[in-house]
Order: sequence, then structure tokens, then C-alpha cells
Amino acid sequence: MNKGLLIVYTGNGKGKTTAALGLALRAMGHDLRVCVIQFIKSNNDTGESLFSEEIKRLNKLFDFYVLGAGFTWSSAKLKNHVQAARDAWEISKELILSEKYDLIILDELTYIIRYKMVNEDEVINFLSKKPENLHLVITGRYASELLINAADLVTEMTEIKHPFKNGIRAQQGIDF
Ligand code: ATP
Ligand code: MG
Repeated sequence: MNKGLLIVYTGNGKGKTTAALGLALRAMGHDLRVCVIQFIKSNNDTGESLFSEEIKRLNKLFDFYVLGAGFTWSSAKLKNHVQAARDAWEISKELILSEKYDLIILDELTYIIRYKMVNEDEVINFLSKKPENLHLVITGRYASELLINAADLVTEMTEIKHPFKNGIRAQQGIDF
């Protein structure tokens, strides 16, 4: 019997999105149908995005959506970001209910809750009524108490060391 889990990868340390993508790889080995939705990222040049077309050629059901408008502190741009986040959440709800997938990754969903771009109660309420067999993974810093309570599995990535602190910039293939 398959029990769909609600999984949260949070904390300040690096590895949340990477862990979720590792899970996608494992799931596809068992022919699970996988969908990744990226909320904050707006660029298609991450390794995972570039590789998604190759995966499809292996006849695996793997859909990859980049729905964010990027990250900004500019209030002028913020309006577009809020709309992008809300649209992304609406699309996610449809995909979750579509029964097309066995595993869906909502990458960086926590930020749009944290910055109140979507209503937290609505999100939690929806997630707690997700299809029974569907595994859902949510990544991002600042997972809220309500989200943690609703989840079956929560892992906190703790930063012990990060090369950024020594002035080493993001590395292709490791960070994006
Ligand atoms: P990754 O995508 O590498 O698994 P993540 O999902 O845990 O990282 P995010 O909060 O989504 O982390 O941040 C994404 C970007 O910020 C990545 O390029 C990552 O390398 C970088 N990053 C993550 N954690 C840290 C940190 N503690 N200090 C500096 N940069 C970080
Ligand atoms: Mg991430």
C-alpha cells in the first residue's frame, strides 16, 4: 500500500533543492511520475532544468515548470512577483489534483508563504487534503509551524560551512 507523504526540506544550510531532486531520481527509477515546480527561480539555466528534456527522452514522465519571477527586494517589481507566485500556486493546485503524478516537488514554496504572497491557511488546508497516494515535497527556508505540523517528514538542513563565507562563488553543476 502506498501512502503519499508530505515531505519538507527546510533550514539555512545548502541541500534542500538538491535533496528533492535526488528523490526525483530515485522515484523515476521505480517509474513514478514526477513533476517539479520551481516558485522563486525564473531562469531555465539550472542543471535540473537543462536536464529535464533529456529525462523525457528516456520515456519517463517528468515535467518541469519554472514559474517564479525571480527574487527581488524592489517594491516596484514585487507586484509582478506576487502575481507570479499566486499564478504558480493556482497551477500547482491543478497539477496536484490532476492525478497525473506520483511525486510533486514544490521547490521554494515556503518563501511565498513566508512573504505572504499566498494565504497560509489556504495553502495548509489544501495540502492536508492532497490526493492520498501522492508524495509531495516542499523545500525552502523558514518552514512555518503550521506546515511542519501538517508534514509527515521534516528535515532541517543546518549550515556548518558554506564556501560563500570564504568568498567562493556559486559553482555550475553544484549550486545551479
Ligand atoms: P541547493 O539548491 O544547492 O540544494 P538550497 O535549496 O538548500 O540549495 P536555497 O535556499 O534554495 O538553498 O538557495 C539556493 C542557492 O543559494 C543555491 O545556489 C545555494 O548554493 C545557495 N545557498 C544555499 N545555502 C546557502 C548558504 N548557507 N550560504 C550561502 N549560499 C547558500
Ligand atoms: Mg532551493
